[in-house]
Amino acid sequence: MRNYVVGLDIGGTRTKIGLVDTQELKVLDARIFPTEKKEKERFFGGIREALSELCGKNQIPPEAVAGIGAGIGSYIFREGGTVDSTWGYIPCLDRVALADELRARLGKSCMVDNDLRAIALAESSVGAGAGSSRVLNVTLGTGVGVCLTVDGAFTDQEAYTHLAGHIKVRDRDEWVEALDRERCYCSVSGCMENTCSATSLRKMAGQMVRPGIGNEELFALAGEGDEGARTCLAFFFDCLLRGLNQMVYIFSPDKIVLGGGITKAFRPYLGRLQQGLTARVNSRQEPELAISDLEENSGILGAALLWVGQYKGMDNSLLW
Ligand SMILES: [Zn+2]
Repeated sequence: MRNYVVGLDIGGTRTKIGLVDTQELKVLDARIFPTEKKEKERFFGGIREALSELCGKNQIPPEAVAGIGAGIGSYIFREGGTVDSTWGYIPCLDRVALADELRARLGKSCMVDNDLRAIALAESSVGAGAGSSRVLNVTLGTGVGVCLTVDGAFTDQEAYTHLAGHIKVRDRDEWVEALDRERCYCSVSGCMENTCSATSLRKMAGQMVRPGIGNEELFALAGEGDEGARTCLAFFFDCLLRGLNQMVYIFSPDKIVLGGGITKAFRPYLGRLQQGLTARVNSRQEPELAISDLEENSGILGAALLWVGQYKGMDNSLLW
């Protein structure tokens, strides 16, 4: 009998659930539903309902579901898969032992981890990092998420480096009013997150190009040769490279995979970015820069891989 693993991608607004074929590493079918934020019972009820509907429609008997993997935007403590804090996004899950709860309610073993760590597993298994040993995933979204995988597995059992995007990339004389009006919570002025996230780029473009401009429009304008847009992007990429070069010295990656919606627009600039990635840990090293090509369901796939990961030489005690 073919086995499936359930992948849960729990977001602040929407939750995605899918059945993942563990042999082909593909999402067989998926559902999206609004995330219940306040009532814990309703949160788990929604998952149970979506799962039974998915299994029913695809004629998958409960015993064919081997386990559950879940990714969520929080630090996850290994013990019980406990959610640290969702910073107000999903209050009913704060400090909840999510892996224990899912296991008790759905009767399957469960792995829970930070959502960007789950995506990093997908990148290194079937994404742009496949085939490389040391893959550093740098995700540019609301913030900047960082995760290293080595041979398709994590190097730490908990997300010790996911906040490594708070390294300094701008000097005091590179103050940008739209970014620095409020200091980042890390207290490093000019940190990479407060410069190179998708949110920061939008703020910067709003000041340097035109109020209210979106990132997509910014890239389109730059492509048409607009001077303001090009200057803004040149500064953004310069800062991004300062951060990535520091990360080469910290993580010594063979490949850096840039993820997050805005990075699709980086393709025309990839050659120049690669040229600017000059840091080397030794004379043979050639860290390669790539842009994620994973699709919409990568969060589901990554979450399922958290569970599947145990078969790739991971510590079995991670299986809660
Ligand atoms: Zn910061």
